[in-house]
Amino acid sequence: MSSRAAIAHEAVYPDNYFCEVPSDPCAIVMFGASGDLARRKLLPALYDLAVHSCLAPRFRLLGFARTEMSNEAFQKQATEFLPDKAPSGDGKAARQDFLQHLQYFTGNYDDGESYRRLAKRLEALDREAELGGNRLFYLATPPAVYPRIVEQLGRAGLAKPKNDGSWVRIIVEKPFGHDGASARALNAQLLSVFDESQIFRIDHYLGKETVQNLLVFRFGNGIFEPLWSRNYVDSVQITAAESLGVERRAAFYESAGALRDMVQSHVLQLTSLVAMETPANFDATAVRNEKIKVLQSIRPLDRNSVHKHVVRGQYGPGCVNGEDVPGYRDEPGVNRNSSTETFVALKLQIDNWRWSGVPFYLRTGKRLAHPAAEIAISFKSAPHMVFQGEAVEPNSLVLNIQPQEGISLSFGAKTPGTKLHISPVAMDFYYRRAFGAGSREAYATLINDCVRGDATLFDRADSVEAAWALVDPILDAWRSSPPPAFPNYPAGSEGPDAAFQLVEAEGRHWRPLP
Ligand code: NDP
Repeated sequence: MSSRAAIAHEAVYPDNYFCEVPSDPCAIVMFGASGDLARRKLLPALYDLAVHSCLAPRFRLLGFARTEMSNEAFQKQATEFLPDKAPSGDGKAARQDFLQHLQYFTGNYDDGESYRRLAKRLEALDREAELGGNRLFYLATPPAVYPRIVEQLGRAGLAKPKNDGSWVRIIVEKPFGHDGASARALNAQLLSVFDESQIFRIDHYLGKETVQNLLVFRFGNGIFEPLWSRNYVDSVQITAAESLGVERRAAFYESAGALRDMVQSHVLQLTSLVAMETPANFDATAVRNEKIKVLQSIRPLDRNSVHKHVVRGQYGPGCVNGEDVPGYRDEPGVNRNSSTETFVALKLQIDNWRWSGVPFYLRTGKRLAHPAAEIAISFKSAPHMVFQGEAVEPNSLVLNIQPQEGISLSFGAKTPGTKLHISPVAMDFYYRRAFGAGSREAYATLINDCVRGDATLFDRADSVEAAWALVDPILDAWRSSPPPAFPNYPAGSEGPDAAFQLVEAEGRHWRPLP
């Protein structure tokens, strides 16, 4: 058993995730079911939903891929990352029960005959398990295959609901496009076959508990939102740091890089959640309408501002967690002269009334000193310091997304004693401590939302394209200028020197990685 599998087997599922009402019965067709994402993330997420009564007891999962496999072999493969424990009762029995809902289908993604057979198989499942014609297609193949699958689903008549009241939905894995043009082409193709209301573009960061809590924190409490503007905020930092290298995804990463892989999706999603206005209510349209306004208000970067405000890096050999690790160019599957960036730091300006003049500093990278995903709001200093000779750190509010989910508010406090000294202290909230449980895997949250038709945490066509519109000029500027001398940061560090200069030139500093 791999070490990852061992970790999954030890996972304890918290028991406060039961659903009062299960989803509609449905068939879930997972394209690319023989792959890494399906095994490591999607099947465990579905198990989580099944054992917490979130999926209808009659659901069926049909794994679709080219690899020849029997139902039994697929079920055996599916157990690799399932936890040993179940929230109630016997874990072994719960796993066995879940596996009985899993079937496998060998087919070719671009072969019409495969889809005609798929249609028949789905009809048979509908009859056998009374699924009512409800279907969820999950695209978990490499993105180049998506257009072929979408086209064939349309041709086979599988994209539209058959019966009144039944539904057909499709989840599209990230990355959504390689640039603005390919994202627009994919949107156009999806929308020629499905309606926008059927399309769920997934970004698993949005399923994380802390990310959702950001909205509750801002809009469910009276005291923070009035501070959330240029009147009180000095700057915002968003960090998505990984200590892992490129792992088994070199082929994908070589053609993507950190800007496409992380900034275009996760980091800009976080930016729009931090900066958005209050939605009229918490439904998908209202929330997504506010999010896209943020992306549309970000000042576009021209070639000159890319040069000044965007830093790219690539890791060289170094030491992470006491272990020597190779540089990016020495990773298996990576070009020895690769100019792919594994780190990006950038400064954005949001040109609207709320945020005018407040810099948003974003950074993401691989093989950094520690894994950390956080949003840090730095507040302005007190306007006048009455405590002579005492330097007081400005207040900051940090929303920790990974590894320890929580929120921390820092302020100055008098150090006990006869002299007046001020020290920074923090009020901390940790999910695990407050609620006695860690967070559910983001994929479980998002699939649960999708089978219930709630698209709030999914991306809309216009916002994917708006995010690419911000990233495309950076890609263009990079293409037309030589990359910096890579590698330019050692594995296990906090990134290239130029990233520090980006914020220090403006009298600020990055928060150290926790
Ligand atoms: P894999 O490379 O494991 O591919 C999934 C399956 O797709 C494979 O088992 C294979 O199945 C089929 N496949 C692979 N290459 C091709 C090809 N060139 N042509 C046709 N079919 C092919 O991908 P992942 O599971 O890692 O990722 C799936 C999707 O999810 C990707 O879009 C990825 O970007 C995204 N994603 C993945 C994450 C991860 O952690 N793995 C995280 C976030 C997103 P078969 O040969 O049996 O048909």
